Amino acid sequence: MGKKSTKGYLLNTGKNDMKTILKTSITVQEICDGFVYNELEGKGLFGLSGKLTIQPEYQRNYIYASDGGKREMTVIESVLKGYPIGLIYFNKVSADNLEVLDGQQRITSLGRFITDKFAIKDENGMEQYFGGMAKDKQTKILETKLLIYECEGTESQIKEWFKTINIAGVPLNNQELLNAVYSGPFVTKAKEEFSNSQNANIQKWSAYVSGSANRQEFLECALDWVSKGNIGDYMSKHRKDKNIDELKKYFNTVIDWVSSVFTDVESEMRGLEWGRLYEEYHKKSYNPAKISAEVHKLYGDPYIKNRRGIFEYILGGEKDTKLLDVRVFDEATKRSVYAKQTKEAEAKEKSNCSLCAVGHDANKEKIWSFGEMEADHVSAWSKGGATSAKNCEMLCKTHNRAKGNR
Ligand SMILES: [Zn+2]
Repeated sequence: MGKKSTKGYLLNTGKNDMKTILKTSITVQEICDGFVYNELEGKGLFGLSGKLTIQPEYQRNYIYASDGGKREMTVIESVLKGYPIGLIYFNKVSADNLEVLDGQQRITSLGRFITDKFAIKDENGMEQYFGGMAKDKQTKILETKLLIYECEGTESQIKEWFKTINIAGVPLNNQELLNAVYSGPFVTKAKEEFSNSQNANIQKWSAYVSGSANRQEFLECALDWVSKGNIGDYMSKHRKDKNIDELKKYFNTVIDWVSSVFTDVESEMRGLEWGRLYEEYHKKSYNPAKISAEVHKLYGDPYIKNRRGIFEYILGGEKDTKLLDVRVFDEATKRSVYAKQTKEAEAKEKSNCSLCAVGHDANKEKIWSFGEMEADHVSAWSKGGATSAKNCEMLCKTHNRAKGNR
């Protein structure tokens, strides 16, 4: 800490020995000189007369314009009021080349405002574009100085450090961090396909994948499926690839498989582990018409608490009822069945668990407490058994759990 340089202060950030210089004299006008906003990709591109790359490929898309633009308006209003808008971090790539490490959302807001891409509201609630503002207000914005740290280090130092900063605004999510760590031609191509909200396929994908393209959740899902959950390894291995053929093909294969097996789209299908289900079941053949009828039947079953489990239950041949979380008996039913069973058992001097009672160990005369027992369907739910007192039997936990197919 402490060595003064010509333009700022040279700091030592610790174990990485990454050089960090604080700059306090760069103005909004300088930053926004040469600013270009790409509407199609949703990102701010350059500044500082072309020296600054605002949105390096590892950065997220511009999101401050969403939510009705509230956040980008706040940035401008803060500057007008003289409030600080926080620290900005640049990565010094070379003498004439800087990248925004943190602060691209704020810089893009400033650039978009100065180029009349959006308006703020004045004191009277009137829309005000930069071009139509009073000269003194324009000057105030343009001459505002920003607090900027220029960092210089190796690629891995910068990226490792980048992983640890979540300084202002919306924290980076896991996939955004991975995009930063493994930036390169592969990530660029993959984002063009999976992180582009203009992609016409997004609507179709949204039936099966949850999240938004902007926040990298489609990309994350595609990578998760193709890598069988090892996203980081996959990205590292393919980092320098010039194409994303395998990623795209695998993703489309899974989506095509789901949509041909299950011809109806249900909201509970969104966000299921389709990649895993594809791997487990794609070699089995299914009759889509029969499957559709089965889905409708199970959707109409009031005992099924977990509808999201219906799809895997069907794919697996309707055996694993645990997936459906079938509704259990209510407390009152269990208590009355327990009382009746226990009374009868005490009279016969046998256990109140019918399976213990027919056994030969020490438990054959044991009277279990209510808390030690669980309700079982006498005739299993999967074979049409109802969830009423007549079909309820209390068993000790050990016996109930040993009994499959509930
Ligand atoms: Zn028992």
